Amino acid sequence: MNFVSKHSLAVHLLRIIFGSYFVVTLIVTCIQLGAEYQHTKAGIDNELTAMEQTFGASLASSTWRFQGDVQKATLTGISNLPVVTGVKIEDPQGRVRLALGNIDDSDGIQTHVNADGVRSPVASDFLNAAIGHRFPILYVDEHNLSHDIGSWTVYSSRHVVVKKVAYGFMLILINSIIKTLVLWFIFLYVFNRWLGAPITELSSFVREQDLNQLNTQQSIALLGKKQHELHFLADAINAMLASIRKHMGQNRALYDELQQEKESLRVLNRSLELRIAERTHDLAQANEQLKLLSLTDALTGIPNRRCFDQTLDQEWRRCARNGKPLMVALFDVDWFKHYNDHYGHIAGDEVLRRVASTLRQTVGRAGDTVARYGGEEFALIAPDTDSESGLSIVHRMRDAIFSLDMPHALSSFGRITVSVAVASCVPSQHEGDVNTLLQTADAALYRAKLTGRNQVLVAE
Ligand code: GH3
Ligand code: MG
Ligand code: MG
Repeated sequence: MNFVSKHSLAVHLLRIIFGSYFVVTLIVTCIQLGAEYQHTKAGIDNELTAMEQTFGASLASSTWRFQGDVQKATLTGISNLPVVTGVKIEDPQGRVRLALGNIDDSDGIQTHVNADGVRSPVASDFLNAAIGHRFPILYVDEHNLSHDIGSWTVYSSRHVVVKKVAYGFMLILINSIIKTLVLWFIFLYVFNRWLGAPITELSSFVREQDLNQLNTQQSIALLGKKQHELHFLADAINAMLASIRKHMGQNRALYDELQQEKESLRVLNRSLELRIAERTHDLAQANEQLKLLSLTDALTGIPNRRCFDQTLDQEWRRCARNGKPLMVALFDVDWFKHYNDHYGHIAGDEVLRRVASTLRQTVGRAGDTVARYGGEEFALIAPDTDSESGLSIVHRMRDAIFSLDMPHALSSFGRITVSVAVASCVPSQHEGDVNTLLQTADAALYRAKLTGRNQVLVAE
């Protein structure tokens, strides 16, 4: 139960309040006690002083007449009074004649005298300290003459004063204890009911709040008709929660929007990447195509002059590095101008296509290249081949064309034939360059034309 909890605000406040209350009460009670003591002592003083009126005359008469019994009876009566602790009668010389109870003897020492006159010492302490009042014993005779026949002293003590005060003090103490206990429980209940409980309610409400639950409209309302600071605190908490939820909602919407944007960007990015990849692929293909086209002869579909030049250059350098021979053969269709003139250009084109494809098909090795060298001229590049071994290939190629048996009315052979020139060298040992090799081949071709055509001549 949080009434007695270590963390109870009510208990904490009450400790402070009642701690202060206790200190103040202690100081006030001490002052009150002091005042009460003084007041009671003054009252006892007055009582003792008033005894002269009551007992003075009787004592004077009995002393004058030496009536010991009467004196004794009077002293017994006086000593029986609640405020009196002792009484004594002295002669004019200061000698104690008769005494009862606690008195100061002739030497000023505290002594107890019992009813039989036996004396015993009394411990002198604060409470036993005597409060004495001394009265003269004056006897007035029938001639109205006053006789000083001694004195009597009546004693009280601080103990008597304290006993009287103690009663009042006990009342004050009991009153204070009851008041304190009752007030403690009332305060504890009130503090807890109107302060501790609402604060506990507020703190558990705040603790239970889940700010991610945006749909909830939870709020706290404290009980009680009168509005005070705690109600204002509850209102402030409700307002703060509403504001936080509103902002959380806005943030959530923004976050969702961002996520959607991010997702659509991701999709867009992906499709862009795909499109770029497609385009890159297309471009690469187009480049490849373009490269192929730029190196291919449009009419015959075999490598063109540009490709021939590049290949010859590469092979020349490769053979030069490896010390291998390189062979080149040039093919020229015989009397082709006449063919065109006679059969027409379209037929001429067809002849060129067939010649090209036949030459290519007849070449055995993968490393050999057949290209269109010029109008009706073709060429073979055969690396690692000397003129001797290459010659047989070239003869086969010429024979293959001859075997096509394409009619040519204006040829002395009656069909399409080719004249061939073969030139070869070992580039690493050759003095000239690749053009020198071609010029030699060209010269041989010229000679082949002059010396009858449809033949293979080897360059010198
Ligand atoms: P030769 O036996 O001395 O080689 O006589 P030729 O008539 O073949 O020689 P020339 O160099 O005088 O003629 C080549 C002809 O080839 C000329 C040209 O009309 C023809 N020609 C060149 N390119 C093409 C082409 O692409 N298509 C056709 N149909 N004819 C072509
Ligand atoms: Mg020609
Ligand atoms: Mg020709």
